[in-house]
Amino acid sequence: MDNLWITYIMNYKNMWEGVFEILGDSLPKHAIDAWFEPMKSIGVSDGEILLEVPNQFFCEWIDSHYKKELLSAIQSMDGDLVGYRFSISAVSKELEESSLVQQKTKATHIHQNNLNRQYTLENFIEGSNNEFAKNAGQSVAEEPGENNFNPLIIYGGVGLGKTHLMHAIGNAAIKKNPGLNVVVVTSEKFTLDFVNSLRKNKTIEFAQQYRSADILLIDDIQFFRGKEQTQEQFFHTFNVLHQAGKQIVMTADKYPGEMKGLQSRLLSRFQSGLSVDVQPPNLEVRVAILLEKAEQNGVSLDYDVIEFVARHIKNNIRDLEGTIIRILAKSSLLNKEIDHALVRDVVRERIGGQLKTDTTAEEIVKRVSEFLTISEKEIVGKSRKMEISEARQLSMFLCREIMGTSLSGIGLFFGGRDHTTVMHAIKTISEKIEKNNKIKKTVGTLRKEFDQPI
Ligand code: ADP
Ligand code: MG
Repeated sequence: MDNLWITYIMNYKNMWEGVFEILGDSLPKHAIDAWFEPMKSIGVSDGEILLEVPNQFFCEWIDSHYKKELLSAIQSMDGDLVGYRFSISAVSKELEESSLVQQKTKATHIHQNNLNRQYTLENFIEGSNNEFAKNAGQSVAEEPGENNFNPLIIYGGVGLGKTHLMHAIGNAAIKKNPGLNVVVVTSEKFTLDFVNSLRKNKTIEFAQQYRSADILLIDDIQFFRGKEQTQEQFFHTFNVLHQAGKQIVMTADKYPGEMKGLQSRLLSRFQSGLSVDVQPPNLEVRVAILLEKAEQNGVSLDYDVIEFVARHIKNNIRDLEGTIIRILAKSSLLNKEIDHALVRDVVRERIGGQLKTDTTAEEIVKRVSEFLTISEKEIVGKSRKMEISEARQLSMFLCREIMGTSLSGIGLFFGGRDHTTVMHAIKTISEKIEKNNKIKKTVGTLRKEFDQPI
């Protein structure tokens, strides 16, 4: 009850201060400093608080790490709010600089269609995994409702670009024809709107809002599963739009024919259009996506880092981006350079454990032996000859780097040496890498060989 009062007397700025305070109690200080301090609340729209953030990486980092905390803080400040939405600084700055009236029109514009402007066809990287989907999307954007691709259903696994492509279709259609009414919504939001309209006796307004769309974009229709009354509503909305030749685009986690918990009359309607899938991308596409994202966000990363990440994170583009964010965050929070060790650590964390499960100390020694033409026996033996002991130190260094084996574990393998010897070896090689180009090259080459994908 108190909350209700607070809502009325408070504007969104105060509300954000409240949310910030609640977060401060539940999250560590470094998280607040790094992620919430730079955020600004710029308004409330459609039951969502609008938060301005410096770049796209912010949105994704917060979504993947602090979503629960943020939502619960927002809702405990104002029970009527359903969530939050991000706006990237450049856009917000433009809003701020313009006059109040303009601010309002622009804000309504954002409110009107909820499209994420960052998701365009131009920055949707095409590969054999998604070209059919992208081409279908392009045709739909050019001539909405006018070909047989109605509805267009984009389906496939998590993080493969369905939402991106769907918003891109909306953005492209509006660019071509700014007068179009594009309505974009997640199936959860559709359900929530419907339930609220029932509660407030406003089902007619609800129906009108959706039925006035020239293009209706609905994300993740699998969440209609089991919601009979919402499906019923959606069925009617669908029919009205379809009959009027309006375009409908949906995304789903599976081929419609395989979806469970959706009424068969809905599924059969869906099958009258076109279903296209998105698959996991291959290495080149993964690299291209990361390069694009880095550029988009003004982040400069060595090609090596990008390729390394793309080689190891394979099935989900969101994870791919998440890994880059984590690398950036770790480097900035710990004030460390983005070096090979840092990147390896982050990738290892992400894929849970070892990078190459079958690499063994024997293999590393064998490869070093071939490379430096020093026998394996000598490498693990006792000789103190310069080249041999250097080869041994190098092997120890690589064992640590590639397999992450404990110092004493490595010592044991190399003829029962103790952990201080191993530590000394690692330190020596690390220093030599800095000063000696030949060693640097050797380490670089061997590292690369062992960093092949799992
Ligand atoms: P889904 O909806 O399939 O779970 P998203 O559309 O949310 O996946 O994509 C996850 C992230 O990956 C987004 O940041 C998106 O921009 C990015 N992404 C996915 N596919 C591509 C692509 N082909 N080109 C560029 N970015 C992509
Ligand atoms: Mg999605």
